[in-house]
Amino acid sequence: VKAVIPIETLDTLSVKSYPLCMRQLHEHLRTAHHMKHGGRLQYGLFLKGIGVTLEDSLRFWREEFTKIMDLDKFEKQYAYNVRYNYGKEGSKRNYTPFSCLKIINNTVGPGDCHGCPFRHCEPNNLKNRLIGYGFDHQAVHDIIDITKKGHYQIACSKYFDASHNVDLGLGINHPNQYFEESQKLIK
Ligand code: SF4
Repeated sequence: VKAVIPIETLDTLSVKSYPLCMRQLHEHLRTAHHMKHGGRLQYGLFLKGIGVTLEDSLRFWREEFTKIMDLDKFEKQYAYNVRYNYGKEGSKRNYTPFSCLKIINNTVGPGDCHGCPFRHCEPNNLKNRLIGYGFDHQAVHDIIDITKKGHYQIACSKYFDASHNVDLGLGINHPNQYFEESQKLIK
């Protein structure tokens, strides 16, 4: 049985155990209190996959969105999507969280913050963000170098190693796999 992840732990987890694609979405939500559809789908399904319950997910999105909009608007326009991700609305399918391939090949437009940062971010912005996170310069250099060569998932694996202070060189093919590998190391 999978552990339930309380939303009160997400800020810590986003730093320690999220791949960069999800950390970026989490930070965007915390600062903008809003997120466009593509991001809500990518992050919402990831949260479901790591073990956040539907009730907690609703509370999580509601608490952020209602910082800048009425509760009524949230309930009418956004709560449906959260329940939809959990298969409680519409066709009631059990939607699975997106794989790296799907995220990397997704279309990302202006103002969007979903996608894979190794694929969709401008390398200089990515570099500054990694330095801001406190990664050492050699690690940042290696990650950016591989990113520029177009090996996005290998860059992600290096990000994993730098975040956890290990040298595993894991093959990363799913954000939820990244999360689980991280949790194994931390626990
Ligand atoms: Fe996310 Fe996969 Fe990109 Fe890593 S390689 S940041 S897990 S989409």
